[in-house]
Amino acid sequence: MFKRSSLRKSGAKNIKQQVEKQPLLQSIFEKAYDAIAVTDDRGTFIEVNAAACQLFGLSHTALIGRILADFTDTEFDFAKICFNVQAGSQQTGKFDLLRPDGILREVEYTLTLNVVPQRHLMILRDITDRKKAAEDELWCQRQWVELFSEVTLKIRQSLQLKEILRATVTEVQRILQADRVLIYQVLPDGTGKAISEAVLPNYPTILDLEFPEEVFPQEYQKLYAEGRVRAITDVHNPDNELAQCLIEFIDQFDIKSKLIVPILQNLNSHQQSESNSQNQLWGLLIAHHCDRPRQWVNFELEVMQQLADQISIALAQAQLLENLEEIVEVRTAELKDVNRNLHQEINDRMQAESALRRSEEQLRLITNALPVFIAYVDDQQQYRFNNKAYEDWLGKSPANIHGCHIQQVWGEDCYQRMQIHVEAALLGHIVTYENEIVLCDGNSRSFNITYIPHIDEQKIVKGFFSLASDISDRKAIERTKDEFISVVSHELRTPLTSLHSALKILVTGRLGTLSTDGQQMLEIADENTERLVRLVNNVLDLQRIELGKFTMEKQVCKAADFMIQATEAMQPMAQQHGVTLVTQPVDIQIWVDSDYIVQALTNLLSNAIKFSLPGGTVWLTAECQQASQVLFCVHDQGQGIPQSKLETIFERFQQVDSSDSRKKGGTGLGLAICRKIIEQHEGKIWAESILGEGSSFYFTLPNLPG
Ligand code: ADP
Repeated sequence: MFKRSSLRKSGAKNIKQQVEKQPLLQSIFEKAYDAIAVTDDRGTFIEVNAAACQLFGLSHTALIGRILADFTDTEFDFAKICFNVQAGSQQTGKFDLLRPDGILREVEYTLTLNVVPQRHLMILRDITDRKKAAEDELWCQRQWVELFSEVTLKIRQSLQLKEILRATVTEVQRILQADRVLIYQVLPDGTGKAISEAVLPNYPTILDLEFPEEVFPQEYQKLYAEGRVRAITDVHNPDNELAQCLIEFIDQFDIKSKLIVPILQNLNSHQQSESNSQNQLWGLLIAHHCDRPRQWVNFELEVMQQLADQISIALAQAQLLENLEEIVEVRTAELKDVNRNLHQEINDRMQAESALRRSEEQLRLITNALPVFIAYVDDQQQYRFNNKAYEDWLGKSPANIHGCHIQQVWGEDCYQRMQIHVEAALLGHIVTYENEIVLCDGNSRSFNITYIPHIDEQKIVKGFFSLASDISDRKAIERTKDEFISVVSHELRTPLTSLHSALKILVTGRLGTLSTDGQQMLEIADENTERLVRLVNNVLDLQRIELGKFTMEKQVCKAADFMIQATEAMQPMAQQHGVTLVTQPVDIQIWVDSDYIVQALTNLLSNAIKFSLPGGTVWLTAECQQASQVLFCVHDQGQGIPQSKLETIFERFQQVDSSDSRKKGGTGLGLAICRKIIEQHEGKIWAESILGEGSSFYFTLPNLPG
């Protein structure tokens, strides 16, 4: 309010007059929130409003006439400012105002020069509180940022949920200057308990205290699950609508104000998109104020909420860790199992290997003790096993046999003789053959060698076992025996021939007749002499063929010719036995010594007739085969030959029944001679038979070359 006394001062008069004329402006001047002052060029206060008096802490009277410089520091030079400001323009700035009562205020001003000549208008505003508030807020925000980074760091550094929660409550309590901060976990049965707490020493702890369900009913939980945040300034204020039992519970702990933020757990954050994810209330982050009601500010609320989110992240991480630990546990258990199994397997394998080694040693011991040469050759024709005798036989060390190719071990010449048999064994055939081998000592020995193929479950030939026995001694004996028989046969043949001729003449009766008994005796003698002659001839024949002491005179022959020749020769015998002899001659040309082939054929036909019953038929057939050979067959309907004898009857003096020679007048040499003849023609001979139904003797001869 303007006073009469001030009107006396020059300069103020005009303004006052103007103001009086304008009651509205006067009222604004008086009631303005900002301080308004009118000064002269030196900064002397000519007029001030009530707000200015309040700002300077002086009465209107005391302030009028004082200069602004009295209240500022030396740096604030009013005259200088006026000098720099052009007339009619404005200048804003700040200065520190030191009031007479000693209080320091920060003031913001706007100076308008010469609103009337030499009178300047100053509008002043105390910005001390505003600045302090801004600074406080900044400090507060910095604290929160620190808290944030600390808690977030803790979450990153630690995966231990308990540790994270403890750090959170401690830091929140410190920054918020709250009396108690706690984390309350909601349990599945609707109850809950404080699992982490930071509380000032003057207040009771509620850590581990279980909250009854009534205190925290389902509907509250539902609201919190939806993300509700509650800031309660005064718990006793009925506007908060807190349940009576909750208020009673709260009172026990002197709680006046509460700030509650839900901690949510995103159940499906890993499997589903955000829109589908489902939140579950895990717990609450709660701040208590106990000494008096507290007005929570928005910023605190926001920060609490963000911290609750961080805890949610920590929860998810802890969950992950738990899952990870479970997985690790399971995997470790599995690994242990695998280890155990592996261990077991290694043990088993070691045992199996040592058993194998033992059995190999035994096998080696046994095979080393045998007077037979034993070896195993794989499908690449490389030695995989051999006994000691084999090494001695070859005069080679194990290193020069094991893993080496047969050719390398035996040399080119010997391998040439073995190759066909080796290949046959590797095709899965059992092979037996004889071979003359020059040993390391330079001596030549005869060996009987058998290859037995090793065929696996998939019928694949993996190799073969080779068994060889030295038959040199047996061969020598055989040779001596043969020579002996040969010599004896030769010596026998001349006297036998004359004996046989003499008996033949006697039997005819041309030299006189005998009694019936005498005649009978003579016929028996004749018959047996004839058999003896045949035997001697056969022995000599065989001997000759075996020793190669004969020459095959091969020429182009018609198969039909010697088939007819042989049949005709055997016709009388067939008639004598009441057997029909049938032949189907074929017009094939072959390269043979026909005399020997006729000999073979007549021998087979004579056997067929001999072993046929009267009334039976014997067939002689021949046919051309694909493999450029001709197949001959002598088939009868006789008694047949057992399977076990089909091969042995081709050996010397071998008969199905030892009485055959006596009963049928045979020598047991016919088939052996046949085989020799056919083999000399590079053919094969064999027999097939069904007991009681008959036998078939086959032999092949090569077709005419070209
Ligand atoms: P042999 O002179 O004893 O006939 P072989 O060598 O010709 O001598 O025959 C040997 C044995 O083979 C005969 O003793 C007989 O036991 C048997 N054999 C040969 N051919 C036949 C056949 N067609 N039917 C039955 N057994 C036969």
